[in-house]
Amino acid sequence: MKTILTHSPIAIAIFWISVYLGLTLVPLLVLLLYPPMSIEARGFWVEFSVALGFVGLAMMALQFALTARINRVEASYGIDIILQFHRYISIVAVLFILVHPAILFINQPETVALLNFPEAPWRARFAVMGTLALVALIITSIWRTRLKIPYEAWRTLHGLLAVLALGLGLAHAIGVGYYLSLFWKTVLWGAIALAALWLLVYVRLVKPWMMLKKPYLVEAVESQRGDSWTLALRPHGHNGFTFQPGQFAWITLDVSPFHMREHPFSMSSSGSQSDRIEFTIKALGDFTREIKHVPPGTRAYLDGPYGVFTSDRYPDTAGFVFIAGGIGITPFMSILTTHAERGDDRPHLLIYAGDRWNDLIFREELEALRDKLDLQIVFVLRHPHEGWTGESGYVDKALLERYIPHYRGSRQYFICASPRMMDAVEAGLHHLQVPPTHIHMEHFNLV
Ligand SMILES: Cc1cc2nc3c(=O)[nH]c(=O)nc-3n(C[C@H](O)[C@H](O)[C@H](O)COP(=O)(O)OP(=O)(O)OC[C@H]3O[C@@H](n4cnc5c(N)ncnc54)[C@H](O)[C@@H]3O)c2cc1C
Repeated sequence: MKTILTHSPIAIAIFWISVYLGLTLVPLLVLLLYPPMSIEARGFWVEFSVALGFVGLAMMALQFALTARINRVEASYGIDIILQFHRYISIVAVLFILVHPAILFINQPETVALLNFPEAPWRARFAVMGTLALVALIITSIWRTRLKIPYEAWRTLHGLLAVLALGLGLAHAIGVGYYLSLFWKTVLWGAIALAALWLLVYVRLVKPWMMLKKPYLVEAVESQRGDSWTLALRPHGHNGFTFQPGQFAWITLDVSPFHMREHPFSMSSSGSQSDRIEFTIKALGDFTREIKHVPPGTRAYLDGPYGVFTSDRYPDTAGFVFIAGGIGITPFMSILTTHAERGDDRPHLLIYAGDRWNDLIFREELEALRDKLDLQIVFVLRHPHEGWTGESGYVDKALLERYIPHYRGSRQYFICASPRMMDAVEAGLHHLQVPPTHIHMEHFNLV
C-alpha cells in the first residue's frame, strides 16, 4: 500500500476505486462460494435478487467510510468528488435494495404476504422498516432545501436514518439466515457491521475528542468588504497545522466538537503560517452572520486540513490561472500569499469577479502582491460605476479568450465562485480547448 500511495494521483484514485469494488463485491463472492444448496434449488432470479440485496447492503456500509473524512481517500479525490460519489452510489444502492424484494414478489407472488406488517415475521418487518428509513434518507437529502430542513437538523437526521437503515438491513439478512447460517459467513458480515459502527464511533467520538485536545482561540475578527469578516485563530497549547494553500478546514466555534456543529471554510492566510490561521467568511446564514459578534478569546476547534484544490499538487506547471467570484477569492488569497512568501516566479493570472468595486475583498492586499509575484489581475464588475474602464459583465468565453495564454495546456486553471459562474467558466474553458485535466473547481455549496 505504501508504494501505491507514493504513485501519481491517477494511480492512487484507481487503487481506491479497486478497494471500493473489492469491498462491495468480495463479501458477496464469499457468500456465493459455498451456498447452502445449489443455485438450481432456489432458481436464478431468487439468487440474483439476494445478490442485489447483499451488494446494496455492502454499499450502504461503505457509505460510512466515504463520509468519515478519511484523509488518504480524501487526498486522492477531494471532498467534492467523494460527496458526489456518495450521492450517486447511494441511489444505486437504494435501487438494488428496492429491486431485491421486487424480483421476489414477481418470482414468488406468495412472498407479498410478508408486507403484511402485523402478521409478518420479524425478519420481514426489519426489511420493511429498513427500506422506509432508506427512502426517508433519500427524500430528505435530495429535497432538503425544498422541505426547508435546516442543515444542522438534516445532518443529525441523516446520521440516524443511515444507522437505522444499515442496522435493520443487517438484522433482516441475519434473520433470513439462509446465506448467513454458516458461522464464518456471519462473522464476515458481523465484521462489516462492526467496521461501519467503528467509523461512526470514530467520526462522532474519537475525532471530536482529538479536536478537543487541540483548541484554538479567536485572536481577532476583522471587517472586510462585501459583508465579510476575517476570523483569525491562534493554536492554544499546541503547534496548529500547516496546510497546502487552497485547502479548507471545518470550524467549530464556541461549542464542544461533540456537538458536530461545524462549518467548512477555506483558509485565506499563508499555508506555512501555522501560528495564526485565518478564514474570511461572508455573512450568508445563521452561522456566518454571527461571525462579526464573536469576541476575541472564544474557543474554536479545527478539523483539517482537507481538499485537493491547491496549487501544490502541480509543482511542474508553467503557471496558474485563477478565476474567483465574490467570496471564492479566499483560497486564491492563500495560494497567492504563500507563493509570494516562497518567491514563486511563475506567471499568475487572477480573474476576479464581483458585483461592485466596493464588494471586492482583499483589493489592496492583491495589489500589494503584484510587487512580489508575476501577477496579472483582471477585475470584472457586474455593476460597474461610472468611469470604470476595466472589464464588466460576466466571465464568459470571450473574456477568458482575451486573457488566458495561447498555449492553454501550459497552465493549471482553478475556479471558485457561485455554482452558476463556475458552470459558465468551465464551459468557456472547454470551448477554448483547455484540457479538462487542467481545470480544478472548489464548490462552496457541498450540500
Ligand atoms: C470547501 C468549502 C470551502 C468554503 N470556504 C468558504 C470561505 O472561505 N468563506 C465563506 O464565506 N464560505 C465558505 N464556504 C461556505 C460556508 O461553509 C457556508 O457558507 C456556511 O457553512 C453557511 O452556513 P450558515 O449557517 O451561515 O448558512 P445557512 O443559511 O445555514 O446555510 C447556507 C448553505 O450553506 C451550506 N451549509 C450550511 N451549514 C453547513 C455546514 N455545517 N457544513 C457544510 N455546508 C453547510 C448548506 O448548503 C446550506 O444550504 C465554504 C464551503 C465549502 C464546502
